[in-house]
Amino acid sequence: MPHRRQGSLARRAAQVLLAFALLPALLLGLALSAWYEHVDQQHAAAMLSDMADGAELALRSYLARHRDAVAVLAADPVLRGQFDTATLQPRLRLLRYMYPGFLTAFAAAPDGRVLTAEPALDASGKPDYWRGVSVGDREYFRQALRGGRAYVSGIFQSRGYEQGMLIAVAAPVYAADGRLQGVIGAVLDPGQLQADLGRLAGPSDTLALIDPAGRIVAASPSLGVRRGQPAPASPLLRGILAMAPDHAGDVGPAWWWTQRGLRETLPDGWQVLTLGPRQFFAHAWLPSLGLLVLLLVPVTLLVRLALPRATRRLMRPVRVLADELARFDPGGGAELPASLRQVPYELRPIVDALEAHAALIQALLAQREDVLAEREHEIEQRTRELRRAVAALNETARTDGLTGLTNYRGWREQAENLWHEAQESGREIAALTCDIDHFKAYNDHYGHPAGDACLRRVAGALRQVLDSRARVLARSGGEEFIALLLPAQRRRVEALAESVRSAVAVMALEHAASPHGQVTLSLGFSVMLATPEARLDVLLRAADLALYRAKRNGRNQVCELSVSALQKLRVEE
Ligand code: GH3
Ligand code: MG
Ligand code: MG
Repeated sequence: MPHRRQGSLARRAAQVLLAFALLPALLLGLALSAWYEHVDQQHAAAMLSDMADGAELALRSYLARHRDAVAVLAADPVLRGQFDTATLQPRLRLLRYMYPGFLTAFAAAPDGRVLTAEPALDASGKPDYWRGVSVGDREYFRQALRGGRAYVSGIFQSRGYEQGMLIAVAAPVYAADGRLQGVIGAVLDPGQLQADLGRLAGPSDTLALIDPAGRIVAASPSLGVRRGQPAPASPLLRGILAMAPDHAGDVGPAWWWTQRGLRETLPDGWQVLTLGPRQFFAHAWLPSLGLLVLLLVPVTLLVRLALPRATRRLMRPVRVLADELARFDPGGGAELPASLRQVPYELRPIVDALEAHAALIQALLAQREDVLAEREHEIEQRTRELRRAVAALNETARTDGLTGLTNYRGWREQAENLWHEAQESGREIAALTCDIDHFKAYNDHYGHPAGDACLRRVAGALRQVLDSRARVLARSGGEEFIALLLPAQRRRVEALAESVRSAVAVMALEHAASPHGQVTLSLGFSVMLATPEARLDVLLRAADLALYRAKRNGRNQVCELSVSALQKLRVEE
């Protein structure tokens, strides 16, 4: 149902809701996520920087503390004067006592041969384990002599001391005259440093301390590297080392899976490498997005469920409006039902438009009413005129143009009607036929126009006598006329016929071709009782025969033939 699809208010409401609520909520959520992500990043960077600073400080103090301790001992004026075991031993012990980080403290002769060490026993209790050992080839020994001051080595593998990786501190001891007495040395367990770092870095942070030679001195276990290994053994550390000194940057296997790295360098070549918590680019986005979806899904479902109900509620006034409109008859009056005025104002335009429409329809109806009345009046007038014209036409069609009497057609109709009337009343009816004598000769003698004038004169005489007395008077053809009388009395009919004949005779119209010398009229009549069995043509036939008889008897006279005489004649024939 396409119209349902186009026209659904619920659908539109859902679209509006989506466009104005859900979509902005989603966008806002994304923007907030981006903002949080940004803040988070900044926070993480600050934390990382703090951690790096802390680690650097710890390393610095660790190195400086131990270096200075050895340097102070090397500067001991007693030692400078008396560099022998008896003088050294208590001092070395004191050094270890004060700096527990030192695993072993020792004193070596200028050639590197160890004179004495503290502790005197090794871990297994074996005495003088240092006897015969020379540190002359050791880097720290040589550097201390070369620099003429305390030196801290990088990390190195211990030799036979079963102590693993070590850091050594060495300082030359000079006599007052500048002669080299020997070297004070001490080795540190970097494990101590590792423990310090463990306290500094959180469980998700990663730290690595690198010595000037680029070897790992201490590193978080998560890096999976061993102490003493070159730092580039770890890809992450390699990544940090590739960055500019004292700079932060992202390191990781892919752009979307990185750790924030920071490389801090100390003046003497030591480095602190820090790594922020592992993250992928959407680590802050995913939870907020998830939360958004979690919120939006039930909201959308709720909207979906509530929408039909809400739409029904919204649509109720529309339905009321539609019902009212269905009932509203604009022809009944422009006034709208009162309930339509209580619709919500959003629907007011429809009601207003309807009102305007109703007013328009009213105006149109009134206009149509006027036009109809006008048309009706016109039609009535035309009909009257038409009736008049038809009547006139009928009249003309039934009137003889020459004499103004009813013509043959009119005569037939009138005769039939009168015959029915006579039959219904059962009264006597009479037929009177007239014929001008020797009229052919008249025409021949005086000409046809004169014949016409003669016909008009004779018709005038007939009308004069019969118009008020006969029910039908007609020119039945040529110079013949006929009249029907109802009711009819034989005597009266006979007298009327005689009056007609004498009226023509009295006119004394000259007729030189007639033996009478003037225009004369022969007449025949018959009277008959109009019974249901009687027939009009029998009456007419009788009147015709009566006229024939008048002609035969010499014309200019009236003859009668009764119906019974006619029947008798027939029988004789
Ligand atoms: P009768 O005395 O036997 O009636 O003889 P008649 O000559 O009158 O009768 P007939 O039937 O022989 O002649 C009738 C004549 O009437 C013939 C015709 O010329 C004439 N006539 C018929 N109608 C008209 C008409 O309208 N005008 C004129 N001028 N003559 C007519
Ligand atoms: Mg005739
Ligand atoms: Mg005649």
